[in-house]
Amino acid sequence: MSVQAIRLFGDPVLTMPAEPVTTFDKELRGLVKDLTETMLDAPGAGLAAPQIGVSLRVFTYDVEEEVGHLCNPVVSVVGDEDQEGDEGCLSFPGLSFPTTRKQHVIATGMNMHGEPVTIDGSELLARCIQHAVDHLDGILFIDRLDAEQRKAAMRAIREAEWSGLSVPAVKVSPHLTGGLAL
Ligand SMILES: [Zn+2]
Repeated sequence: MSVQAIRLFGDPVLTMPAEPVTTFDKELRGLVKDLTETMLDAPGAGLAAPQIGVSLRVFTYDVEEEVGHLCNPVVSVVGDEDQEGDEGCLSFPGLSFPTTRKQHVIATGMNMHGEPVTIDGSELLARCIQHAVDHLDGILFIDRLDAEQRKAAMRAIREAEWSGLSVPAVKVSPHLTGGLAL
């Protein structure tokens, strides 16, 4: 259990839908620990399992001094208010762009012990949840930008020093050691 390498844009694990968690065992708890440690080390407000190369529907968050995690999240939007704000992603180091999100969402799912959990999130926590759940669907924040911002983002990505550095390798389960499934 330790801080893991964060996968960068261009890595195929970031654009594939992640698999639901079906086994709430010691290895899942290890994954949650790795995600939490990697997120806190980065530091970031959230981290989804695909970002450390594990294609499972799990994410962690650290918003307003509350650290938590959620497995198999399902998001429902509360109200119709949007929020505007700059958003970045640990898989796009150093870059952030104005990204519109819903102001208030509720995410339901399970904790690492398989117990039901509900997270009621507004503002930053709502943004974090939407960003993380997008990751689990293989959707990246640049996909949420308006056309002009997306163009600027693609230019910035091409110019970024980390561009093209990612090494593709995808694990679909924390149970597989060295298994590649793509
Ligand atoms: Zn991200």
